[in-house]
Amino acid sequence: MLKTLSKIGLLVSALAVGTVWLVVLRLKDVPVPLLAAYGLLLTGLVVGLLWPSVLGRRATRRRVLAFLGVPVGLGTLGLYLAVVYYVTDLPVLLALAAAGCLAWAAASVLRGRRAAAGRGGRQSRRAFLAGGAGLTLAVLSGLSVDRVDRQRREVLARGEQERQAAVRAAGARRRIADDIVRVFPIHTGDTIVTYGQFYGGLDGWEGVNGYLRTLVDKTQIAVPVYAYLIDHPRHGLMLVDTGVNWEQAHDHDGYYDHNHMVSRLLTQRDEYQMTPGQDLRVHLARLGYDAKEITTVFLTHVHDDHAGGLRYLPQATVVLDRRDWDHGVLYPYSFDLVKSNLSFPAFGSGAFGAFPDSQDHFGDGSLILLPTPGHSPGHMCVLLHLDTGSVLFVGDTLYTLPHLAVEQVRQTTLGGADTIHQIEAARRIQNLLASDPGTVPLFAHDNTRYQFDLVTSAFANGVPGEAGLLELRTHMQTALTPDWRLQAGHTPRFVPPASGTGVGRVEFR
Ligand SMILES: [Zn+2]
Repeated sequence: MLKTLSKIGLLVSALAVGTVWLVVLRLKDVPVPLLAAYGLLLTGLVVGLLWPSVLGRRATRRRVLAFLGVPVGLGTLGLYLAVVYYVTDLPVLLALAAAGCLAWAAASVLRGRRAAAGRGGRQSRRAFLAGGAGLTLAVLSGLSVDRVDRQRREVLARGEQERQAAVRAAGARRRIADDIVRVFPIHTGDTIVTYGQFYGGLDGWEGVNGYLRTLVDKTQIAVPVYAYLIDHPRHGLMLVDTGVNWEQAHDHDGYYDHNHMVSRLLTQRDEYQMTPGQDLRVHLARLGYDAKEITTVFLTHVHDDHAGGLRYLPQATVVLDRRDWDHGVLYPYSFDLVKSNLSFPAFGSGAFGAFPDSQDHFGDGSLILLPTPGHSPGHMCVLLHLDTGSVLFVGDTLYTLPHLAVEQVRQTTLGGADTIHQIEAARRIQNLLASDPGTVPLFAHDNTRYQFDLVTSAFANGVPGEAGLLELRTHMQTALTPDWRLQAGHTPRFVPPASGTGVGRVEFR
């Protein structure tokens, strides 16, 4: 009885580890049929080792190891190499072929020794041929490394050229020095996410289950990644979030290779899209600024689509909630150049409306930091006073305007306390917006007309004015009722891509 129980325990833990491994492989785009076959072999091996008789009367552990263990071992090695060293790269393909030939040669040598004199000669000829082919392939593999590396450098150099051309073509605006606070939305490309991760928090996309679904679900959409530039007459040039950087979007594997393996294994290869004109530095140049002039960055949270641009801002003070930093930064490479310039707010300025804590960052009431944990443990929103009203940078606490209807539209969270905090934060934001009709929310990933038409045009020259802010608030009223429910025409719905594959879109009905 006890033995059976411990065997069941072993089975369960082996299957759990196996499932995690399969999920990682799926995330790295290993085809489903291949994964299914591999998973079946893996399960057979585990079950066969624990209860050999299940696989047949004559099955022994030794036979299970020979017939299932060897293919599973080779499969695991092959998949690991494919995922970590990119089997699609020429050097890796050549090296794998070389390893196969050499293994064959070694097997032939061994068999030749055991075989009778006549057959031994044939085996050694085989060993000679396979060994020669293996060595040749190994040399070719070594030679091709340099070629692949050169190609990668060329891709990056071409990107740099395109980017500089975009700066020149933009015809830099001359910076205006007056005493007006300016805010510019900066669209740093798009990220591909599953529809459910974005909008399905109330349809079971929550916690571990939600995370697993993001890996297998193919209802994908592209959503924008926004950062915001603030040109402040007293406090200088500042950014709220920094968006994605060029390498993340164009040399994804090279970029994540600078990280530890975990983040490379858990990120999707084609998750970001960016044109040369969407690079943060191009945006800044077009607006008449330079990345070197940015003195302060407020990070709503540490996720990589908000921290990527830190690569270009080594001089900036980076203000973020200590709870996010202490929780561990999964993408250290983004922070490498700024990790000695971090500043953690104490949130000691007392309550602010419905928020129990706040930080009056400059001590003059011009910019207030508000903790909104949930999306991440140390997420915060930033409230900035303009001359005509205020803007609230909500980061990822609410992805889009419809997300303000928190009872109807919700994004994925890690579940448990995070979900409770997330809803609490959303309610506090609702409260702040309701109590001050001169405040407008600015989102990091809004994919509705609010962002694309209204915010873009209201902030085109950085100064929305009272009329611009009013227009945004009026649109909010057409999208949401006073008790924060969606008006007709604003409920999101997934529309699959016309061709059946690729990225779908969102329709609001
Ligand atoms: Zn984000």
